[in-house]
Amino acid sequence: MRHVPSTVIVGAQWGDEGKGKIVDLLAAESDLVCRYQGGPNAGHTIVVDGATYKIRSVPSGIIQGKASAIGAGCVVDPAVLIGELDELERRGHPTAGLVFVSGNAHLIMPWHVALDGARERKLGDLQIGTTRRGIGPAYADKATRIGIRVQDLLDPKILREKIGLAVGEKNVWLERVYELEPLDDAEVLEQALIHAERLTPYIADTSLLVDRALRDGEHVLFEGAQGTLLDLDHGTYPFVTSSSPIAAGAAVSFGIGPQRIDEVIGVAKAYVTRVGEGPFPSEIQGPDQERVRELGGEFGTVTGRERRCGWLDLVALRFAVRVNGITKLALTKLDVLSAFAAIPVCVRYRLPDGTETEDFPAHQSDFHHCSPVWETLPGWECVLDGDALPEAAQAYVRFVEDALGVPVTLVGTGQGREAVLAF
Ligand code: GDP
Repeated sequence: MRHVPSTVIVGAQWGDEGKGKIVDLLAAESDLVCRYQGGPNAGHTIVVDGATYKIRSVPSGIIQGKASAIGAGCVVDPAVLIGELDELERRGHPTAGLVFVSGNAHLIMPWHVALDGARERKLGDLQIGTTRRGIGPAYADKATRIGIRVQDLLDPKILREKIGLAVGEKNVWLERVYELEPLDDAEVLEQALIHAERLTPYIADTSLLVDRALRDGEHVLFEGAQGTLLDLDHGTYPFVTSSSPIAAGAAVSFGIGPQRIDEVIGVAKAYVTRVGEGPFPSEIQGPDQERVRELGGEFGTVTGRERRCGWLDLVALRFAVRVNGITKLALTKLDVLSAFAAIPVCVRYRLPDGTETEDFPAHQSDFHHCSPVWETLPGWECVLDGDALPEAAQAYVRFVEDALGVPVTLVGTGQGREAVLAF
């Protein structure tokens, strides 16, 4: 693979594309791995030598001993991060001097978790399907300028003031709107001070860190969580996440100019999954949905929730290529399709007025009411275990490349780290 100083890895679908494994692979050639958005809901699963790691906050490059940074665009649950650091240390992966957390990242506080769960319960059938880890409420407080940042942990006086203020306000919501027990600000502060002591050595200026690394000619890898269609601005709102997974989010989160990103690798499954509600044109109808789910192990890493499964959607993937500026694609889980004699691919959407389009509809109503136009490709019906793909699998990959005008440079052929073919 060609070496370039900085690469973004972005989910090109609705998340869970298998980014963890691709990041893990490319981290081997990188000096610094950076997580640029999201919180501890997106569990990356990495399987190395039979050992499974479920990583939620720290960039997965840490498994290979790479310097790992959490950017300003992330939200951090201090208890979860500390748990992860402890676990990594226990399993023989040092973190001191290797893990850096932006002082500008926001903290997920106990009221965020309480309010997230309470709001979802109250919404009932209308719920967004959040992971109830307080991520959305933490981002909301960031936007309303009442958030608590990682750097606030460095100053007990500021921390006390901010917690006191926040608890006063959040308790009104907890008690009066959601009829829950109020929080005790002294208790919250006590916990936060314990977290502060453990996390202080990890707090850093991650913009300067990345800037220096790039000036020194080091290789920096930026990893996004979730995926393009979950982007707050460009995704399928309101069924989106509360941050910016698209590639430009890396520059925003780490405070570097966008021109310093050299390569954008989009990670897409050879089919599609989506968690929770919202329109999903290429969703598989009939028993094949269950088959793909079982074969692909499509259940949430952290939540265990069943994922909805669809055939590959080239309209949505073309959109991902556009909004991220994807220069290369990694197509994961091609092996899951080995069981099928014929594989439908969604090549266009048919809109309510009868017209067909290759471009993702800008208007939500068109997206909600469109139907897929399929092209069916022959399957290969054999295990993908060699150094080369069978002819029909090659044709499937070529079909994707031709439709999108982007080369597929990595193909996932199994769960293990080694099960990847590079082209
Ligand atoms: P992420 O959030 O995008 O990293 O996605 P996950 O961590 O949920 O990864 C999806 C799952 O697919 C994990 O269990 C991976 O080990 C697995 N996986 C990744 N690539 C492949 C592949 O090429 N084939 C198969 N069968 N499984 C894969």
